[in-house]
Order: sequence, then structure tokens, then C-alpha cells
Amino acid sequence: MGQYVLVVNAGSSSLKYRLVDPVSGDTPGGGLVEQIGEPAGRLKHVMADGGRHTDEGAFPTFEGALQAAAQAFDQHGPSLRDVDLVAVGHRVVHGGERFAQPTLVDDDVVAAIAELVPLAPLHNPGNLKGIEVCRRLFPDVAHVAVFDTAFHQTMPPVAFTYAVPAAWRDEHMIRRYGFHGTSHGFVAGAAARLLGRDPQDTNLVVLHLGNGASATAVRRGVSVDTSMGLTPLEGLVMGTRSGDVDPAVHAHLHRQLGWPLDDIDHALNHDSGLKGLCGHNDSRKVEELMARGDAAAALAFDVFCYRIRKYVGAYYAVLGEVDAVVFTAGIGERSPLTRAAALSGLERLGIAVDEARNTGPIDGPTVISPDDSEVAVLVVPTDEEWEIARQALSLVGP
Ligand code: AMP
Repeated sequence: MGQYVLVVNAGSSSLKYRLVDPVSGDTPGGGLVEQIGEPAGRLKHVMADGGRHTDEGAFPTFEGALQAAAQAFDQHGPSLRDVDLVAVGHRVVHGGERFAQPTLVDDDVVAAIAELVPLAPLHNPGNLKGIEVCRRLFPDVAHVAVFDTAFHQTMPPVAFTYAVPAAWRDEHMIRRYGFHGTSHGFVAGAAARLLGRDPQDTNLVVLHLGNGASATAVRRGVSVDTSMGLTPLEGLVMGTRSGDVDPAVHAHLHRQLGWPLDDIDHALNHDSGLKGLCGHNDSRKVEELMARGDAAAALAFDVFCYRIRKYVGAYYAVLGEVDAVVFTAGIGERSPLTRAAALSGLERLGIAVDEARNTGPIDGPTVISPDDSEVAVLVVPTDEEWEIARQALSLVGP
């Protein structure tokens, strides 16, 4: 049996884990523990053959949740004690300006991630909890932090600087950071390989369209602009997030209606996007309602796709030359309707979607543009856990 990395993604009350062969991406098992700390929780473990095991029980602590995950491996194989575990790879959402690379976790790194909590109050505390528990349970294994923001640390000042007072920028780290970087990086590499090009010679617009959504302009293999900013709220329309709005919306609602800023922030993050527009955050439901003539769902779909098209145009202008537009994540990989609508009318830019290819099976990286297209249009399934495992191995491997 080869080497493995245990990839851990700890949220505020959930823990996602997957054992990954960093070379092939194969996985002998993984799962999700939800509602940690609540009276009733659930562990769902999936085996290599697709078999599932569910444990409905209480998981009062993250430590208990991780032990339950280890027991699931003991029961269904392979036991974590028997595999050659070379690292635990931790997904960390915010790495600020300090972390542009995967990083070996030590006490200093933990303190630095804790210092970044004000920039990601919803994410970094859970990520830290995961690191703390895993370091205790796997004291002899290297722990590697892989940051969602890292891939975007190559953005030039012109792309990451907000036009706000100097004190905000200098003293309070108010700038654009970008997120989904692990996915954008993985997909950019796979897209270049599909095109048969050197990544360092490839310009791409990558569209990560899942429940969260972001667009990235990749020049010669590195991120030069991305649609998410200080937080993952900026940019594209998402399942429940508004994406771009006039920043004066907060002040307006606060002043006119007396609404607390926290309520407005919560609504923009959790009750907006597709959900705010038509009551549903799942694009499958939006498409189903639209097919039945629901006007709100049709508007939601149109607003979603129109915003994507605006960013494709903007990033075309940023890059000057584009080799490919790449779709990834839940919606990007599975919704031909979204892909066609988002890129409609861009033929003069050399961007077109072939209908048969777009609606055909997508079993891996796939070209969906006509053969003679100036700009290729690709669908590339993302695999953030595999990328985290690869990056962890790159630090600890021979
Ligand atoms: P992700 O966050 O990448 O897991 O993507 C999740 C989202 O993908 C879901 O909320 C759905 O909106 C969307 N999705 C999944 N399958 C389909 C599908 N067959 N057609 C359209 N959207 C889909």
C-alpha cells in the first residue's frame, strides 16, 4: 500500500475528512461528521467501493468526531494505523498576506492563523479547531496547512487594492484576498494539461460555480485577479450570497430602517443570491422551476448567468489573450444550461459552446467548444482534497 494524506476540512460544527493517495487521487475512504456539539449529530462514511456507513449519534466535541472517523476507518478499512500516513493536510480558509504556500504547522503557524480570525470569523476558528485536535490525535505525523487564499497571493496591487483610505489598508488589512484558490489552482493545471500546453504559457478564465462561486483570471499559470475580495461575499451571484452589491446598501438599510449591521450582513450571506431571488439556493431546483414557467426562477437564472458573463468580459480585458474559459464545481460541471447561457453572445470574442459537446457526458476534463474556436471552452472537474494532498506531499515528500 502506498503513501496517504488525511485531508481534513473542519468547519464551525462539521468535519469533512478524506484519505487520499496524493499521486493518483484515489481514496479508500472519507466522510463527514455534522452537528458537532449539538444533541444529535451524524457521521457519514463512504468506502472506496461506494458503500456507505451512517452513525446517528451525538458528537459533543471535535476530538470525539475525529475519533469516530478513525473508528469508521478501523471498521471498514484501511485502519489509519496500518497505512503509511505521510501527512494530515488541513484546509484553512484565510491565510492573509503571510501564507502564499502550503505550510508545515507548528505553534507559530497556529498563532498566525489565529491572528487572521478577524478576517475570517466564520471559517478560521473551525479550521484551527481541526488542526488542534488532529495534532493531538496524530502527534507523529506532519501537519500541513493549505490556504484558500494562497493561490491568489500572486495578484498585483492594481487588482487587490480597494480605493479606500490608507489607514484602512495599512492598519486593518482591508484589501482583496480571493478564495477557492485550491480549486482554481488545481483546475488551471488540469486545463493546461488538457490543452497540451505548459501551464506557464496558458491564460485562462476559471469559473468555479458551486454553492459558492468565483471567477479567476489566470495569466501564465498564476492568479492575476479574482472575483471574491476581503471576504467570500464579493463577485458572482451564489446560492445564498449576493455577490457584488453597492457597498452603500448597508448604510441605506441601516439609516432608513434602523436594521442592525449584523442582520444585513447575515442576509447578504445567507438569504440572498439564488435563494433571495427565487426562494431556492440549489440550481437544480431553479432550473426545474424555470422549465415550468416560474418567472422568479427565470430571473434568478438570468441574473446568475449575466453576472458570470460580465466577469468573463472583464477578465478577457484584464488578460488581453485568453486560451480557455474553464467551468468547474457543482453547477459548472453539471449544468449545460448555465454554461451555454453564461457564454452566449460572446462569439465576437472567439468564445462559443458546441451544443452536442456541452450536453454530452462529462467524465473528466472535456472540451465543449467547437474545434475551430479561437478560445477553448472546457469543463474540468475540481478536486480540492486531492490538491491539498498533493501540496502536503510536496512539503513532506522525499
Ligand atoms: P458544490 O458547492 O461545488 O458542491 O456545488 C453544489 C451545487 O451544485 C448545488 O447547490 C447545486 O446547485 C449544483 N448542482 C449539482 N448538481 C447539479 C445539476 N445536475 N444541475 C445543476 N446544478 C447542479
